[in-house]
Amino acid sequence: MRSTITSQTSPRYNVIRPPGAIAEADFLRRCLKCGECMKVCPTNAIQPALLEAGFEGLWTPILINTIGYCEYNCVLCGSVCPTGAITSLSVEKKLGNPAKQQPIKIGTAFYDRGRCLPWAMHTDCIVCEEVCPTSPKAIWFEAVDIQMRDGSTKRLKRPYIDAKLCVGCGICENKCPIRDRSAVRVTSIGETRSKKNQMILKP
Ligand code: SF4
Ligand code: SF4
Ligand code: SF4
Repeated sequence: MRSTITSQTSPRYNVIRPPGAIAEADFLRRCLKCGECMKVCPTNAIQPALLEAGFEGLWTPILINTIGYCEYNCVLCGSVCPTGAITSLSVEKKLGNPAKQQPIKIGTAFYDRGRCLPWAMHTDCIVCEEVCPTSPKAIWFEAVDIQMRDGSTKRLKRPYIDAKLCVGCGICENKCPIRDRSAVRVTSIGETRSKKNQMILKP
């Protein structure tokens, strides 16, 4: 029986489920908390939830991008899940096909401009763009001429996310050199499995 106090299925920004995970209410019913997905994840991104997904979601799998990220070509978690809480995906289905089908999206990345080196400190950095695996890349730059403190001018590339291309893999968050709290972070919004957890205004 499901707990009425804690069966909270409203979207939560930090509940990023593995690719192929079914809608949250059904996910909570099906997931056995067996940890099989956690064992196979090659980057260790899948970790047991504490209270992020409510009391009922204790020990269910969520992605923690400070630990790992969802490897672009990997579909292992769905292939080992014994209950279908994470459906088994082919690589083609996960990555989509521009002509026919959208990729599976587990969240969307956002910049924290107060911490991002080019935005906050006029310092060059392209790490997140370099690692973004989508094609074309979800991260793109705007070149701007900045007036520096000493009066000189500097040409700088400032990054943006194209939410339509971002799959929420989290490698940008994982590799960002601002180590304690990355300047680009993924939240669950836009995840394929939820009709509710979508942006109201389409970017
Ligand atoms: S598909 Fe992503 S989340 Fe699942 S096991 Fe592979 S890397 Fe980990
Ligand atoms: S890697 Fe981090 S600091 Fe560098 S541009 Fe991306 S978000 Fe900014
Ligand atoms: S999460 Fe980051 S690296 Fe992954 S697709 Fe989105 S912008 Fe690119």
